[in-house]
Amino acid sequence: MNQINKDYQRLPGSYLFAEVKRRQEAYEKAHPDQNVIRLGVGDVTLPLAPAVIEALHQAVDEQADAATFKGYAPDHGYDFLREAIQKNDFAARGADIAVDEIVISDGAKSDSSNIQEIFGPDIKIAVGDPVYPVYIDSNIMAGRGGDYDEETGKWSDLVYLSATAENNFKPALPEEPVDLVYLCYPNNPTGTTLNTADLQKWVDWANENDAIIIFDSAYESFITEEDVPHSIFELPGSRTCAIEIRSFSKRAGFTGVRLGATIIPKELEIDGVSLLDLWKRRVSTKFNGAPYIVQRAGEASYSKEGKAQIEEMLAYYRRNARLIKEGLETAGYEVFGGVNAPYVWLKTPQGMDSWDFFDFLLENAQIVGTPGVGFGPSGAGYFRLTAFNTYEKTAEAVERIKALNK
Ligand SMILES: *Cc1c(COP(=O)(O)O)cnc(C)c1O
Repeated sequence: MNQINKDYQRLPGSYLFAEVKRRQEAYEKAHPDQNVIRLGVGDVTLPLAPAVIEALHQAVDEQADAATFKGYAPDHGYDFLREAIQKNDFAARGADIAVDEIVISDGAKSDSSNIQEIFGPDIKIAVGDPVYPVYIDSNIMAGRGGDYDEETGKWSDLVYLSATAENNFKPALPEEPVDLVYLCYPNNPTGTTLNTADLQKWVDWANENDAIIIFDSAYESFITEEDVPHSIFELPGSRTCAIEIRSFSKRAGFTGVRLGATIIPKELEIDGVSLLDLWKRRVSTKFNGAPYIVQRAGEASYSKEGKAQIEEMLAYYRRNARLIKEGLETAGYEVFGGVNAPYVWLKTPQGMDSWDFFDFLLENAQIVGTPGVGFGPSGAGYFRLTAFNTYEKTAEAVERIKALNK
C-alpha cells in the first residue's frame, strides 16, 4: 500500500506570513483610503548592482555562442566563484579555508534545510528561539522533532536556545547533550549578534562535547561593529566543529537570482567519515549545479566595482535600520538589533502580546510588521521591523510611530 511521509503532516501550516497577509488585506479592504507601509518584508528591494547586471548580460551572450556555451556546471561550483569566495570572504578575514572546501549552491535556504540529511536520524538538535523556521521544519520532515506541544509551541525532541532581553540575546550553552546546533548570527529575526568571545564559547563547547555547529552567516555583510565575526572560521578551533552556510541573497540582492555556498573543513569528521565528502556526495546526487550565468554574477559581486556598488546598497538598508532603531528609541520603545543586521526587534509596550501589537500598529499607524511569537515561543512579546523598504516610506513609518505617543 502506498504511503506518504507522515512527518510532513506533523508540520504546522506556514501560519505566520499567511496570517499577517490576511490581517493586512482585511484592514486595507475596510480602509481603502489608508496608505499602509510594510516593514514586515524579509526580502531585499533594491535592484541588482550594475556590475552584477553587466556580468549576467555577458554570460547570457556566452550562452548564445557554441564556442563559449556552457552546459552543466561542475557539481560543486565553478572555480572562478569558489576562488572569489575563498579570497574575499575567508582569506581576507584571516580564515583558513581552501577552495575545495567551498560547495556552491542555489542559496542558504536549500543548504540549511538539506544539511541535516548527512546526519543520523537520532541525533539531538538544538535551535535558537526565536529562529529562522527552516532549521526546525527540515528536521521535523526528517522525523527528528518528536511531538509538538501547542501550549509551549515546542517540539519535544528539540532543544531550544532561548534568546531574550533577559540574557541580552545570548543564549546559554545547552545543559543536556546535543549533537547539532544551528546558530544564525547576525540573527534573523532579532537583528542581534555575538561578538568574537561569545562565539568562541560555542566553538569550545562544540569541540569539548563532540557537537557540530551549523553557522548561518546570511547577514554577515550587515555587520558594522568591530569584534563581530563575519565567519565562524575566523575563530580558532572552528575547523573541527563547524559548517558555515553563506548566501548572496542579503549581501548582494540575489534573493531572486539564487546563489549560496556551504563550507565544510576537511578535518570535520564523525567516526572517521569526512562530512565534506558526504556533503559533496549528496550535492552530486541531488543537485545539478547553480547556473553558469548566476555564478558569473556572483563572481562580479566581488569585483572592485561590484563591491563598491554593493556597499552602497548595504548603506541604504543600514540607514533605514538606524532610522527605525533611533526613532523607536525616541518614542520610548525598548529596541534591539538594527546595528549589524537589517532587522529591528522591539519589546511590545505595556506587555502587549505580539499579535495585539500587530493589530495596534496596523490600526493606529497603518504599519505592517511581524509578530515575534511567530518565530518561536521566546519571541512572544516582541515584534520585528525590517529595513527593506524605501528610505522615504521608512521615515514616514517612523514619524507615524512617534506621533502615536503624542
Ligand atoms: C534570508 C535568509 C537566508 C537566505 O536564504 P537564501 O536561500 O540564500 O535566499 C538564510 N538564512 C536566513 C536566516 C535568512 O534570513
